Amino acid sequence: MEARPINVVVVGGGTGGTLAANLLTKQLHNEIDTRRVQVQLVAGSERRHIFQPGYLHIAFGDLEPKKIIHEESALVRREVQLIEQDATRIDSTAKEITLVSGEKLPYDYLIIATGSVADSSIIPGLRESGLNFHTSPEESMKIRNALEVFEGGHIVIGIAGVPHKCPPSPNEAAFLLDDYLRKKGIRDKVKITYVTPYPRPYPAEPMSKVVAPLFEKLGIELVTFFNVESVDPLTREMY
Ligand SMILES: Cc1cc2nc3c(=O)[nH]c(=O)nc-3n(C[C@H](O)[C@H](O)[C@H](O)COP(=O)(O)OP(=O)(O)OC[C@H]3O[C@@H](n4cnc5c(N)ncnc54)[C@H](O)[C@@H]3O)c2cc1C
Repeated sequence: MEARPINVVVVGGGTGGTLAANLLTKQLHNEIDTRRVQVQLVAGSERRHIFQPGYLHIAFGDLEPKKIIHEESALVRREVQLIEQDATRIDSTAKEITLVSGEKLPYDYLIIATGSVADSSIIPGLRESGLNFHTSPEESMKIRNALEVFEGGHIVIGIAGVPHKCPPSPNEAAFLLDDYLRKKGIRDKVKITYVTPYPRPYPAEPMSKVVAPLFEKLGIELVTFFNVESVDPLTREMY
């Protein structure tokens, strides 16, 4: 009887999962061609791969969402067995993944690359009050649309909770916002406040030494040690 190939299952078809599956199949292509190994990528049912750093340029620039969305199937090497379904369960004792269809995938090696998701519902009032550039192209477009009709006022930007992905992106957003408002000619009508639970504008001190003077120069108010507990959508205040 022919031995079953060693099965490597990667769960999650984002940056990490797609790269892991591609790099593994590149390195193991001899073993895959001779059916000693197989690599299965459980990439989720959305079928689309999104380049998340682009969210910033959708929200504060003119990048069109379609530029950062690609078919997952166009990004994986031919040796990767692509499964476009969500995984619903990982059984590490039986070494088995359950898919949303009920099908089970046995694995010998497992790579979990399911990423993280910003969940604004954790903070009361935040979802109703705030917009964010950390979840989807559609959410980022809401920021662009809001800025297009914005004529002045107070914009609070920052980090609502830790951990969060991409430490630089809130700083980048503040700078891009400032730049956008200057180009629109309304920077003098807008107060920008940057709130962060960290003791400085950037989590790591060496980078903070660059960011802090820039905030000051651009007139971006900095509020440190700020942990957002709740937001009142009616009075438009953060606590
Ligand atoms: C605004 C912004 C700017 C950024 N800028 C940079 C930058 O300049 N440089 C940089 O290096 N990084 C940047 N990042 C961070 C970078 O995008 C992330 O670190 C990276 O996407 C993480 O990759 P990942 O594979 O761990 O997760 P993700 O890319 O989030 O992928 C996780 C995948 O798993 C899938 N998944 C989840 N659950 C399941 C399930 N049950 N079954 C199947 N699939 C599932 C999801 O649908 C998703 O496709 C930025 C992020 C943001 C939001």
